[in-house]
Amino acid sequence: MVNQKGGVGKTTTAVNLAAGLGFGGLSVLLVDLDPQGNASTAVGGEHRNEEPGTYEVLIEQENIADHVQVSEEAPNLKVLVATMDLAGAEIELVSVVSRETRLKRAIDAYLADNDVDYVIIDCPPSLGILTINAFVAAAELLIPIQCEYYALEGLTQLQRSISMVKANINPSLVLSTVLLTMYDGRTRLSSDVAEQVKQYFPEETMETIIPRSVRIAEAPSYGQTVITYQPASAGGQAYLAAAEELARRGAEQD
Ligand code: ATP
Ligand code: MG
Repeated sequence: MVNQKGGVGKTTTAVNLAAGLGFGGLSVLLVDLDPQGNASTAVGGEHRNEEPGTYEVLIEQENIADHVQVSEEAPNLKVLVATMDLAGAEIELVSVVSRETRLKRAIDAYLADNDVDYVIIDCPPSLGILTINAFVAAAELLIPIQCEYYALEGLTQLQRSISMVKANINPSLVLSTVLLTMYDGRTRLSSDVAEQVKQYFPEETMETIIPRSVRIAEAPSYGQTVITYQPASAGGQAYLAAAEELARRGAEQD
């Protein structure tokens, strides 16, 4: 989940797709790559008392398997939590060897020994070394786009970073998926933005659109995803549909 623009729904999408895929019977590893640790909180991960997680994996090169926590938010959902330490990682990584490939190595090692259908990485709102680690580790990128003014702002910069990583380190990286979030059916603006995004990303934009929903925004304060908090709400249904659409796309590729 990537978009250097803040507050567009990256974390919300990461945790709810992870839960949706989990309830669909798939096994998911959620990697919280944002020092804010919001994805960790949303799936009930312990991360406020310096529990080990993404920081130890990136900086100390420890194994993911030793630090994953089991989330109660869905069957077969595990989370690698982020702590505030991760804020320092951006600077600490600058001077270490293989700084762009550390997450990839760790995930590849984990996947060699564990049966995982999806690894979902929640990126911070920047294009720094943490996000570059995600670009190197990932096969696909999903960009959540908020149906608001300036929705497409910054996408050129994002695409430039993606191209750079593709050309130099990870040739198989694809921007495969765009998800429209916080859609407000009552406003002309939302539908205009949705149209614009579909024109810009005709293949990538998912059919499922995530509505603006109070239930989605409330869920994290209960340490839950909307999928367990209010599955029948419009937001819960939308994220379940998005997870199903994503899984179908994945199955068609295989
Ligand atoms: P950051 O860039 O800070 O990491 P983000 O891109 O991860 O932000 P979120 O944290 O997922 O964005 O969402 C930003 C805020 O909007 C949060 O308070 C979240 O609860 C709320 N939000 C996300 N999606 C929806 C939605 N569909 N309806 C209502 N509120 C939403
Ligand atoms: Mg976030």
